Amino acid sequence: MKVLKSSKEYSDWLSSLDEKTTIGVAPTMGNIHDAHLSLLAQALKDNDKGVITIFVNPTQFGEDEDFESYPRTLQNDIDKIATLETMGKEIIIFAPKNNDIYPENFNQYIQANEISCDLEGALRPTHFDGVVTVVNRLFDITKPTSAYFGKKDYQQLKLIELMANQYHPKTTIVAMPILREENGLAMSSRNNYLSREQKQEALILKQTLESLKEIIQGTKSLKKVENKINQVLKEDSRFNYLSIKSLHDFKEVKDLNQPVVILGNFQMNQTRLLDNLEVNI
Ligand code: AMP
Repeated sequence: MKVLKSSKEYSDWLSSLDEKTTIGVAPTMGNIHDAHLSLLAQALKDNDKGVITIFVNPTQFGEDEDFESYPRTLQNDIDKIATLETMGKEIIIFAPKNNDIYPENFNQYIQANEISCDLEGALRPTHFDGVVTVVNRLFDITKPTSAYFGKKDYQQLKLIELMANQYHPKTTIVAMPILREENGLAMSSRNNYLSREQKQEALILKQTLESLKEIIQGTKSLKKVENKINQVLKEDSRFNYLSIKSLHDFKEVKDLNQPVVILGNFQMNQTRLLDNLEVNI
């Protein structure tokens, strides 16, 4: 395992490789948990080399958000990554500094596709432009054969697929299943902000998604699901949104004759929690 802390160190490592070497990259903001490790494990399984990037990206945080306080735990992260079974393959941890990703006069800002405008994008207006900008930059540096993203951030995954299609058509984007804590809560670095009781209370998000899924599968009636969504949103102001999108293109659905994803965002004090469930009708 190597820890590379600049794009120069990374490109030196790249140039030592045979040009046929395949590289799987898992981009993260660190504070590594098992879901991050599952992305890296899949990257290692599918490729000759597995790269995990650790970078807390300032451009995806809004002014009032937790950029300053976001947990930065590099040594712990390195120790956790070192416990992963490597199948005899090499792991690279790429943990660049801010001025390496955003050098002076940086001008490669990218605008996210229009599907960034609602849900998370409505709550965090500049967030997805920051996400696609940093992922584009990380891809430029790390040169992934394949890159691994979690379905927990479903809207982000769709936007990265669209960005990669345009700017990195040779890179395969691999969508990875949501990993959950023992009680069922979707894993997230921000779960560290919650007490045990709050984690239990936050399960209402997953339970609500499950009850919506039951209505979809039981009635196949979009009207009934929308009514239920409106009722929950009216009765519990902790839900920032609940929504159904087409699994295929993430657009609004007009009927339920297609696979969909039900998405929710739930507010626990200052912390916004995300979750979603796919429904293959
Ligand atoms: P983050 O460090 O939160 O930016 O996440 C880095 C990557 O890990 C993203 O692709 C996330 O979607 C993915 N990820 C985070 N939490 C989970 C989870 N519970 N299950 C699956 N993937 C996840």
